[in-house]
Amino acid sequence: MDITIWGTRGSLPAPSPENNFFGGNTSCVQVTEGDTLLILDAGSGIRRLGDNFPAGVSRIDILLTHLHMDHIMGLGFFLPLYNPRMEVNIWGPTSTKEPLLNRLQRYLSPPLFPIRLQDLPCRPNIIEINHSTFSIGNLAIQSAYVCHPGPTIGYRIENGHSVLTYMPDHEPALGSAHFPDEPEWTSGYALARNADLLLHDAQYTSEEYEPRVGWGHSSMVDALKFGAMTAVKKMLFFHHDPSHSDSYLRHLLNKALGDKQPPFDVDIAAEGDVFTLP
Ligand SMILES: [Zn+2]
Ligand SMILES: [Zn+2]
Repeated sequence: MDITIWGTRGSLPAPSPENNFFGGNTSCVQVTEGDTLLILDAGSGIRRLGDNFPAGVSRIDILLTHLHMDHIMGLGFFLPLYNPRMEVNIWGPTSTKEPLLNRLQRYLSPPLFPIRLQDLPCRPNIIEINHSTFSIGNLAIQSAYVCHPGPTIGYRIENGHSVLTYMPDHEPALGSAHFPDEPEWTSGYALARNADLLLHDAQYTSEEYEPRVGWGHSSMVDALKFGAMTAVKKMLFFHHDPSHSDSYLRHLLNKALGDKQPPFDVDIAAEGDVFTLP
């Protein structure tokens, strides 16, 4: 399973000379397993994936965690959607209020975008999921609602040998006076348990988190606690705050780690990173 990171930023694209290393594009991750191509979220990073699209691929599965703009803003700029021969499946969370197609079309229709989603030449299939298990190619996928404002799901992706977990927007500490609590009662635990690689929200410092409780994101310290609770092998901090520069992110990681290394690898996700899981 090959994992390529095309966008790591949270909330808003933040291109600038100070952010060149970790990148300014919002959430987008490519997962390739043999002939199968998954795309996790369609943030602004998906545009470059379209420009570097692998030849010979005829089916794409885009797995959306939720419909906040930073996770869908790239969809209309992803060139493979304009190929009428491409099979495109867009998966995303069920809502009790409105079908996924209608919610996606609020952005992908005039006046916000010139082309309606259902008029794109690939005619995408829209598939609603919640607490679901399904397969795409040789990949077994589990989705579940996680703690974040509005219907939001995380993904656990397995190829029979390794596990990748993706939760870019997640606040498992919400409502807990002494996080971490019981694992089984913690949002996202079942998705992340023993993962080989966990991409997880670490948007804030502890000081920034305090006035933003309930906004749906984690402090770096809470992200580390979640990684320890779920016994992951490697964790990548993801969904970087638009105001955090490369040097500040490195400083914050060191500060969050303090003088003790957690029992797993930790790093800051950077645009252009490639990981291979066996
Ligand atoms: Zn986000
Ligand atoms: Zn969000």
